Amino acid sequence: MSVLRIDHLGVAVASIEEALPVYRALGLEVDRREEVPTQKVRTAFLPAGDSSIELLEPTAADSPIAKFLEKRGGGIHHVCFAVDDIDAALDELAACGFRLIHREAVPGADGKRVAFLHPEAGGGVLIELSEARPSPPAPLPEGEGRRP
Ligand code: ZN
Repeated sequence: MSVLRIDHLGVAVASIEEALPVYRALGLEVDRREEVPTQKVRTAFLPAGDSSIELLEPTAADSPIAKFLEKRGGGIHHVCFAVDDIDAALDELAACGFRLIHREAVPGADGKRVAFLHPEAGGGVLIELSEARPSPPAPLPEGEGRRP
């Protein structure tokens, strides 16, 4: 297992629309929006180089993001690392005794497989792992590889 990059930083906000102007002033734009009913959250992704900012807005008072805002105010909620093999990563972390929220990967935004470590494991930082999609196989040279 290896970490490929920081995939995104999750930022908890009371309102995505109210949070956008500063990111737009920095030259970032919303790439996609998604609502995750199971997490009672609305998200907006703003690509920033190889990474993104994920704005997280609660859609209900009992959303984990609403609770975070209540306790800590807005701010960085989690850091997400793109890994090449999420199953191997979770096995390795569990074998080292780290506390995991998800022992198995779950479906996340953008159809990716994700899992969260317990903030206790990250020294107070909530860590998300996201499996990077495998890159498509390199095209075969003309006329090669299709013969038996
Ligand atoms: Zn995230």
